[in-house]
Amino acid sequence: MSIVAVVGRPNVGKSTFFNRLIQRREAIVDAVSGVTRDRHYGKSDWNGKEFSLIDTGGYVKGSDDIFEAEIDKQVELAIDEADAIIFMVDVESGVTGMDQEVAKLLRRSKKPIFLAINKVDGASRMNAALEFYSLGFEYQYNLSSINGSGTGELLDDLVKAL
Ligand code: GDP
Ligand code: MG
Repeated sequence: MSIVAVVGRPNVGKSTFFNRLIQRREAIVDAVSGVTRDRHYGKSDWNGKEFSLIDTGGYVKGSDDIFEAEIDKQVELAIDEADAIIFMVDVESGVTGMDQEVAKLLRRSKKPIFLAINKVDGASRMNAALEFYSLGFEYQYNLSSINGSGTGELLDDLVKAL
């Protein structure tokens, strides 16, 4: 079964998106200390195509350096194991340095990357989402993990790439 990983810095809404999509949780199948501690696996399907979804989130509280290094590890793991990657960012905060860091790592990967601009809860936030084009990804989607708008467009394209 294809694997889809959701990556991005903390608080952008990865877990909210994950919980909206999955039907049932799977056991955490790996236990690399630290990095995978907070990874959750779930099964989902869209347009009749099943896939495994990984919610990445593990990080070590401490200095910003450690914090960033943990996110980098999550991204590298995702690049290794996933067939497609959802890179989530937050329209409320705009593009951050950490987003740019993650983008840099992801651009080196050959895997299809879907940039999910989360928290676009209404039309008034569409304009603000435009600045994320600066991250340089071809597939960019405005969505709201809280009310579900826009998630269908992302999933339509995602499952085509699996
Ligand atoms: P994670 O750290 O990336 O897993 O982020 P969470 O899923 O834990 O969400 C972080 C915060 O953002 C929570 O307070 C969520 O309720 C909020 N949030 C998530 N998705 C949305 C959204 O689509 N719109 C808004 N307004 N808030 C959201
Ligand atoms: Mg989370």
